[in-house]
Amino acid sequence: MKTNSKSITAYRQLRDEIDKLSAKLEKEHTKHLSCKSGCDMCCMDYSIFPVEFYSILEELKNQNFQKNSFESKKNGQACVFLKNHRCTIYNSRPIICRTHGLPLLFTNNEAEWELSACELNFKEFDLEKFTSENTFPQDKFNSKLFLLNKKFITEFDEIKYGEFNLIPLKNLVKKL
Ligand code: SF4
Repeated sequence: MKTNSKSITAYRQLRDEIDKLSAKLEKEHTKHLSCKSGCDMCCMDYSIFPVEFYSILEELKNQNFQKNSFESKKNGQACVFLKNHRCTIYNSRPIICRTHGLPLLFTNNEAEWELSACELNFKEFDLEKFTSENTFPQDKFNSKLFLLNKKFITEFDEIKYGEFNLIPLKNLVKKL
């Protein structure tokens, strides 16, 4: 597999930036978060951009990730990388998994601001107190990821992807 290392490096830098902000928000909202190790409510069968897919694939191959370290799922909606309710690719997990549970601010299809958070969190939080400072700006990071991916797919010579093409996370299993 030949990947564009500059796009992959830029993707990993974006991931670090997101981790930093997520850690800050987690600290700030800690009283209102029920997220804990062993809760897998957010772990769905996601699809991701090629730049993420190939970055994760490269990392897992470098770590000699063992294919048999995960179980097949009876529930087709759950992520294939869950094992005993825990993520087996935690350090390499995609961006969507790095903001689980946090208050996410984004514009919806009607071009209105919308806030989303896990139903288990913020049960006793005054929703009026959410601001652009204490929420995760999802549009900003989605745009950055979209542009990064666009660059990646134009330089990726193995398969031609369109700019809106996503790849199911579970397809990583076939490539390992
Ligand atoms: S990659 Fe990990 S954190 Fe993300 S959905 Fe799968 S098991 Fe959950």
